[in-house]
Amino acid sequence: METDIQRIAALAHIDEKLDEMHEELGDLPKEVKKLEAAVRERMRLVEQTETSLQEIASHKSNTHITFQEFTDKEAKLADTQFTGKVRNNKEFDAITKEIEFIRSERVRLEQELAQNALKQENLENLLGTQQSDLKDFQEKLAQKEKELEDLSNEQNDEFKTLQKKRKELSAAVNNDWYLEYERIRTFHNDAAVHIRKGSCSGCFSAITPQKLVEMRNNINAYYTCQSCGRILYPEDLRVEEEYM
Ligand SMILES: [Zn+2]
Repeated sequence: METDIQRIAALAHIDEKLDEMHEELGDLPKEVKKLEAAVRERMRLVEQTETSLQEIASHKSNTHITFQEFTDKEAKLADTQFTGKVRNNKEFDAITKEIEFIRSERVRLEQELAQNALKQENLENLLGTQQSDLKDFQEKLAQKEKELEDLSNEQNDEFKTLQKKRKELSAAVNNDWYLEYERIRTFHNDAAVHIRKGSCSGCFSAITPQKLVEMRNNINAYYTCQSCGRILYPEDLRVEEEYM
């Protein structure tokens, strides 16, 4: 026949297992969330670099168009100058100045194009690094998500079985003991512990020999550790196989 202290000890066993399962899952969802944020941040960086590269490309094509316009205009001016269409020296000088301006503008545009080409090369290298970094984190995330999924599936059956046993036990155990057990659980996860070598295995305080004798003689009484308040059960008490 099961005694209340045996039921409490079995409850403590089940709760320890449930706590462990909770802990196992506890870290994984947090890690998945962290990796999700890391992936999002890296995607943002990749997008930023891609936008900069698009800007450079469109600037490049605009500059080429302007450059061509300048070239055409210069040819036209030179043509005006050298085919005798200029009416006087003043007009000739004005055209010469305009041609000089166009040439200096073309030099400026060439420099700009060279600078942009350098910038583009740097950004392409950066993009390569950012993309491989992103891929690393996406792989890490996929792996963690799989771990979490597998563990959840694996735990599901065990969890249900433990919950069912726990429900049966908590219904069968003396109600006052159960309430006390739950109250202690709010500050000690292991609310009921066995005595090991004459000491509380929760806080390692020694139990007086007198109390040990009392406990042996009153297997249906309720004893707690004087130091930590945990419920104590005898060293030789075995928890039923089904609750192990
Ligand atoms: Zn104790």
